[in-house]
Amino acid sequence: MNSPAAVPAITARPDRQRKPDWIRVKAPTSKGYGETRKLMRDLGLNTVCEEAACPNIGECWTKKHATVMILGDVCTRACAFCNVKTGMPRVVDRDEPEHVAQAAASLGLEHIVITSVDRDDLPDGGAGQFVKVIEALRRTTPGTTIEILTPDFRNKMRPAVEAIVAAGPDVYNHNLETVPRLYPTIRPGARYYASLRLLEEVKRHDPRIFTKSGIMLGLGEERLEVHQVMDDMRCADIDFLTMGQYLQPTPRHAKVQDFVTPEAFGAFGAIARAKGFLQVASSPLTRSSYHAGDDFRAMRTAREEKLARAGA
Ligand code: SF4
Repeated sequence: MNSPAAVPAITARPDRQRKPDWIRVKAPTSKGYGETRKLMRDLGLNTVCEEAACPNIGECWTKKHATVMILGDVCTRACAFCNVKTGMPRVVDRDEPEHVAQAAASLGLEHIVITSVDRDDLPDGGAGQFVKVIEALRRTTPGTTIEILTPDFRNKMRPAVEAIVAAGPDVYNHNLETVPRLYPTIRPGARYYASLRLLEEVKRHDPRIFTKSGIMLGLGEERLEVHQVMDDMRCADIDFLTMGQYLQPTPRHAKVQDFVTPEAFGAFGAIARAKGFLQVASSPLTRSSYHAGDDFRAMRTAREEKLARAGA
């Protein structure tokens, strides 16, 4: 299963920035899309769906699935793949936790994904705001399961993780984004092993919390480097791996090196499952929060079945 021959060749195309047919998505026009958009505007909430120019926005917002981006829309990092603005962020909005909870209630969400910009300017990196959002959600919509997708909390990781884990999210996601060799160009402000350690810390503090991480393919990574990332993630006991195609948000961002075929994504997914992840999502349009609720329920069932087998 692990042999390189198990994965079809990555397809390099002559015109690298032209999207292949399997990436094209319809423009968002539905009534549900408009309602989700209005609610986010009314509550003054940012979403990563818009800020990252996510190709799935039409589908997700039609189903009222939006990923809220807390702590403003200005990031203190400048990653080469990310469309979010870089600069000096504004003061933290104290009403944001209640507004997030109102949004979850209005949208009737069974599962919510909360992410944020990096806030290296804040003494706690923004961890306190994640805690307040989780608390507000537990008060207002106690039946909603909570998934958080956090930054790496550079130089303040341990206290940040401790505080957030104590607030009890159901899923803790932190993306590795790419293979370690590409960090200096793609994710220059971050360290691969620091990100892995963050996810290990979550499990060390509370093994009941599901951990999740993702990488983008098409940035120039080699197949065996992807396999190595999978092995590193399993060593850190990460439960859920997502893999999706990197898309260049603007000409200023890192170029797409390869459009990985759906078949190759399928083969990478099969390898990941064989390596023992509880849940794997691997397709060109996979994003961290794409189908997050359905995948959470499948992962929970997979864990219950695994525990039942272990106890049998
Ligand atoms: S995949 Fe995630 S970021 Fe993209 S539109 Fe759906 S919820 Fe938003």
